[in-house]
Amino acid sequence: MLKNFPLMSASDPLIYLDNNATTAVDPAVVEEMLPFLNQFYGNPSSPYRIGKIAAQALEIARERVAMLLQAEPVEIIFTGSGTEATNAAIYSALAADPDKQHIVTTRVEHSATLKTCEVLAKKGVEITWIGVDSKGQVDLQEMEKAVRSDTALLSVMWANNETGTIFPIEELTAIARSKGIYFHTDAVQAVGKVPVKVGNTGIQFASISGHKLHCPKGVGALYANKRARFVPFLTGGSQENGRRAGTQNVASIVAFGKACEIAHQELEQNKKKVLSLRDAFEQRLLSRITGVEVNGDPQNRLPNTTNLAFENIEGEGLLILLDENNIACSAGSACTAGSIHPSHVLKAMGCSDKKARASLRFSFSHLNTEEETQRAAEIIESKITKLRAT
Ligand SMILES: *Cc1c(COP(=O)(O)O)cnc(C)c1O
Repeated sequence: MLKNFPLMSASDPLIYLDNNATTAVDPAVVEEMLPFLNQFYGNPSSPYRIGKIAAQALEIARERVAMLLQAEPVEIIFTGSGTEATNAAIYSALAADPDKQHIVTTRVEHSATLKTCEVLAKKGVEITWIGVDSKGQVDLQEMEKAVRSDTALLSVMWANNETGTIFPIEELTAIARSKGIYFHTDAVQAVGKVPVKVGNTGIQFASISGHKLHCPKGVGALYANKRARFVPFLTGGSQENGRRAGTQNVASIVAFGKACEIAHQELEQNKKKVLSLRDAFEQRLLSRITGVEVNGDPQNRLPNTTNLAFENIEGEGLLILLDENNIACSAGSACTAGSIHPSHVLKAMGCSDKKARASLRFSFSHLNTEEETQRAAEIIESKITKLRAT
């Protein structure tokens, strides 16, 4: 048995401002999934009742995920993560036509796309990396020029996990469509935070993940347009209509469906709430601390994310001081935190190493409160004053 981790002291409750790394699981989501752990354990591919119950639960979850994406249930393939969904889209696009072995993507993608393309580059796939401006935005003309008739895939994230910058998905879809190539978007950070319609838009593939949406970790989905050619990434059994082999993680998929249903119903309300928390937090820090700058695109930005550069501050050091005060935030993306590399996203935006290392990301959810954001801002202010005085 795992021991209890005596991590949190009750006197100093956790202020969790790292919701782009992962989110707290919604109790309603746990309640929905529990019967599929301790009662309906049947294999959804089995022909008898306890199997059929599991299979029916999968289809209800599929409808709920499709609803959030304004897609059709047949277009949803359940995966083990957002990362797997992205890998599946990229490998499928390359497998679909041996004469098309070129990918266009950006320098600010999540490592799910970035590392996959780096690995493919070593195997001879040609990758065109599109840079970004100081706001983290792409240039559409540069994008259009990069796409060729032998391009297998254009892959651009819907919203960036580090800065919250939202990309012009409609325009990018139009570019891909005009050149007759496939478009994939990593929509992991966008779903549940801004409206994400993918069905009937010209988008062929979109990746999403449960744990960024108040669902447990280890479940995701790939939207694959029903007219797009899809070559399975995992082969074996004929689960997911022969598109993703392996017995489905029924309980987690049920949870994911519930989380998507809630996200769909509460989108506008949650959007408003996180926006007001984020803006109050950001304004407070900007007005009270000197030498603070917002990294990213102030207009086209996720409502829950702020990435701040604190002049003459070592971000990792501040992060540790904040952790001692039970405030969780992030230096760079979760996947690179702990390493001393400055964020590839901020570097691509032209930030110096020093400025990238002086930057922290704070990301909110609807579970955060005004009191928490105010208290966090006060503590950050006092720690910065202290750090700058030494
Ligand atoms: C978290 C994240 C992923 C990876 O999703 P997992 O389910 O953790 O594999 C991919 N892209 C973005 C933008 C993310 O924030």
